[in-house]
Amino acid sequence: MKYTEKMLLDGYDGLCNGGSYLSIIDGVKRWWEYRRGNWEDGYNPVTNRDKATEITINDMGYILTTIDLDSDCDNHPALSRIKEDEDRVYYGILPTLTCTRCGHTWIPRSNKLPDVCPNPKCKSPYWNKPRKVK
Ligand SMILES: [Zn+2]
Repeated sequence: MKYTEKMLLDGYDGLCNGGSYLSIIDGVKRWWEYRRGNWEDGYNPVTNRDKATEITINDMGYILTTIDLDSDCDNHPALSRIKEDEDRVYYGILPTLTCTRCGHTWIPRSNKLPDVCPNPKCKSPYWNKPRKVK
């Protein structure tokens, strides 16, 4: 399996544009971000293309590499399912979920609500409970 496919599957249940995720690649923990579209944020080497899809791999906040998935992965099953779901969200067919603790939003990919927030930096079990006002 391509390691980009492994990353997409690791993040699959909680993947969203701009989200941050964690994968073990060749025994090494790698943080990575998923981006789709033209964000014009300087991270984006394919910024001139609308709907470009990329994974940016970070180490301690430094960008190691950015992979252009559209040219990397002609045959990329997870990515095509993710793009179909994103299009359904765009047209209002699928909802997005939001964590009340960290603000992470994502597209639910099963009917069962997750036990914890899918953001690896959060993982709160109270993601769908409102914060208590002090
Ligand atoms: Zn969260």
